Amino acid sequence: MFEIRIICDHPEVPRVAQAVLGAVDAVSVRSYPTRDRARTRLYITAEPRASHADCPECDLDGMTLWLTPQGREEWRPCTGIGYEDLLAAGLTPGARRREPWQRPTDH
Ligand SMILES: [Zn+2]
Repeated sequence: MFEIRIICDHPEVPRVAQAVLGAVDAVSVRSYPTRDRARTRLYITAEPRASHADCPECDLDGMTLWLTPQGREEWRPCTGIGYEDLLAAGLTPGARRREPWQRPTDH
């Protein structure tokens, strides 16, 4: 397991999260404002990306529809995180909450 730390502008969070989370198998995601509150800090613990054959979020091919900041849906690498969880964690466009996300232990 390893940790990824990211600092980015608030509007970039969904795009950055999708790119990074689609490249690994996330174990947990936490986000906080930076000390000056101008940007967002993302702390992701993850494992190297494995097969998504048993993933509940995609159909074997490792791809899922992702809502872009422009409001379109595009096929992107699956993050293994469901839409409601992405929304709660503040990782979708327009999301207001920042709840920590933890991979369910039965995954
Ligand atoms: Zn998947």
